[in-house]
Amino acid sequence: MYYDYHMHCNFSEDSKTPMEDMINRSIELGLKEICFTDHVDYSVIVNNKEVDYNVNFKDYFKKIDYYKEKYTDKIKIKKGIEMGLQNHVLDKCADDVINNEFDFVIGSIHTINKSELIQRHFYEDKSQMEAYRQYYEILYSMISKYKHYSVLGHLDIVKRYGDLNNIIDDRVFADEIDEILKLAIQDGKGIEINTSSFRYRLPDLTPSSYILKRYKELGGEIITTGSDSHNTNQVAHKFDYIYECLRQMGYKYICTFDKMKPNFIKL
Ligand SMILES: [Zn+2]
Ligand SMILES: [Zn+2]
Repeated sequence: MYYDYHMHCNFSEDSKTPMEDMINRSIELGLKEICFTDHVDYSVIVNNKEVDYNVNFKDYFKKIDYYKEKYTDKIKIKKGIEMGLQNHVLDKCADDVINNEFDFVIGSIHTINKSELIQRHFYEDKSQMEAYRQYYEILYSMISKYKHYSVLGHLDIVKRYGDLNNIIDDRVFADEIDEILKLAIQDGKGIEINTSSFRYRLPDLTPSSYILKRYKELGGEIITTGSDSHNTNQVAHKFDYIYECLRQMGYKYICTFDKMKPNFIKL
């Protein structure tokens, strides 16, 4: 049984898919439970203008509640959000989580210094080595202050938009990665395994097998599985494969969430 805990619909700026289509596809695939995690990204420069990618939480919750009820016999649907973290908007992100009753919050980096990683400006004035190091340092500094999340989204996304032919071995950043994982574990936070890695043709899982194993070695127990789907074709993509990978790495459970509290489901 699979649980897709990273899913976008047209409440996200970058998805056109109606929520109900994502739900129907999930039912078709036999998923037991899904969590919508639409994008909130504050303070992003787009075409020289600073914008906020917002979700209207009231409409969002209303819609989820409606479908929850409508499909109650077929699938469980949870209320999540994917918060795009940046140092200068952490208070705003915290307010959103405090003031709304989410089941689950993914804390992700999509943007650094108001510039989206996908635009690649972040990489322009530095070596790949410096880019990775800065990314991990920024992530660590944010989670030292910001605790309003359930799992860290695509923890090593810095690889995705850098030079894919020259991905630097995780052992080079073993200390930085350990620091992040230890802090997350100490705070009772998890990580997610994100199967968008296959769409982006990354040679490894996201996060890498190294990071997934290390999280476990350090005592981490909270892991969610997400497709990061933005359309119906991507729902639960490669989940048979990643569930097997997790088993082989020695993971015994994956997590679902209720009102920010993890439930452990036997793998
Ligand atoms: Zn993301
Ligand atoms: Zn996402």
